[in-house]
Amino acid sequence: MARLVMKFGGTSVATIERIRNSALHVKREFDAGNEVAVVVSAMSGKTNELVAWCKEASALYDRAEYDVVVASGEQVTSGLMALVLQEMGLPARSWQGWQIPIHGSDAHGSSRIESVDGAGILAGFDRNREIAVCSGFQGLHAQSNRIVTLGRGGSDTSAVAIAAGLKADRCDIYTDVDGVYTTDPRVVPKARRMDRVSFEEMLEMASLGSKVLQVRSVEIAMVHRVPTYVRSSFDDPNHPNPGTLICDEDDIVEQQIVTGIAFSRDEAQITLRRVADKPGIAAAIFGPLADANINVDMIIQVVSDDQATTDITFTVPAADFERSKSLLESLHGQIHYQALQGATDVVKVSAIGVGMRSHAGVAARAFRALSEKGINIRAITTSEIKFSVLIDAAYTELAVRTLHSLYGLDAA
Ligand code: ADP
Ligand code: ASP
Ligand code: MG
Repeated sequence: MARLVMKFGGTSVATIERIRNSALHVKREFDAGNEVAVVVSAMSGKTNELVAWCKEASALYDRAEYDVVVASGEQVTSGLMALVLQEMGLPARSWQGWQIPIHGSDAHGSSRIESVDGAGILAGFDRNREIAVCSGFQGLHAQSNRIVTLGRGGSDTSAVAIAAGLKADRCDIYTDVDGVYTTDPRVVPKARRMDRVSFEEMLEMASLGSKVLQVRSVEIAMVHRVPTYVRSSFDDPNHPNPGTLICDEDDIVEQQIVTGIAFSRDEAQITLRRVADKPGIAAAIFGPLADANINVDMIIQVVSDDQATTDITFTVPAADFERSKSLLESLHGQIHYQALQGATDVVKVSAIGVGMRSHAGVAARAFRALSEKGINIRAITTSEIKFSVLIDAAYTELAVRTLHSLYGLDAA
């Protein structure tokens, strides 16, 4: 007997028929004698609809009320999943985030889970192996007694955090692909499914744009050592495939130099022309951006040719582009740049692999391959196990495919 958390994403609960099929996966595990907690997302498209309603109701919406609205999608599917399981003759009840409770920080719209109290769910397991159907994406901020949500894709994090809280043997993330691929299979049909991927690489892939798992869910899996699988709810419930295991680097036998390619369209580029080339100028630019909670990623400062001024280029999340521009415009009196230029039609393409620690020249090969395709690189960053290039968005697919082939990742 094992204790499992099974998470079903939006497409896996998109209709009552899909919920029934997902419930058959739950039934299989229950019938095998396991204790099961289920975590559900909202029906696919629902959260987008709820977000749009909030914006329509109030342009500068109150974030606490936003959370009340967007958390409702998961309440619906948890109740429906419990009903479908009961209909199959299984003991099941729904749990909202505040009922469990899952405590989160007060950062409405991007709350961080602080604790999960598993007592109620465990009591149900002890009573009659009751299946706990938990709403993903939501929690409770205890001091203010208000609902919080965990940021887009947050049901993955709910699932892994509940698995950690219940000391589960495994967390299975059921989705519309049968595992983690070397890159998004929707963009590169030759992408390969991996049997295993290390926590570190998965963390980089997720934070660099592979939305198959929310970044925070990988962090929690890594810290609490939760064996986490990504697998398909579209498999025959009686003949399921194991999917991809996220695990320790040491548990992976055949290590590639580059294991995956990720890309993110949520980037924007800002260039400040002819700012004074003198001490303190970077602090004058990036200090206020940091104070405004704007996350600057890539930074390039050109060596000055006139010894007096220089150009500085950097990237910010696309969602913060307008805010960054107006902030910098308000600082014109202090920074004295000649012009502020911006671009949002850019994409960041990254290659990830722990093998980069021990191999030189991995990124250089990419620069050459991209230039041979006529793709101009606007900015570059590197770190121990990844490098990223910023390019024109129009070249996204070409660049991802080029790097995927270059590092030998294409399926035969
Ligand atoms: P869910 O609704 O189940 O949470 P998501 O849409 O959030 O599903 O995540 C699954 C999607 O992630 C896949 O359909 C796939 O297009 C995308 N994806 C991006 N990168 C990868 C990758 N490296 N491996 C697998 N899927 C990926
Ligand atoms: N429903 C939420 C979203 O669409 C959470 C999730 O699906 O993980 O972002
Ligand atoms: Mg998701």
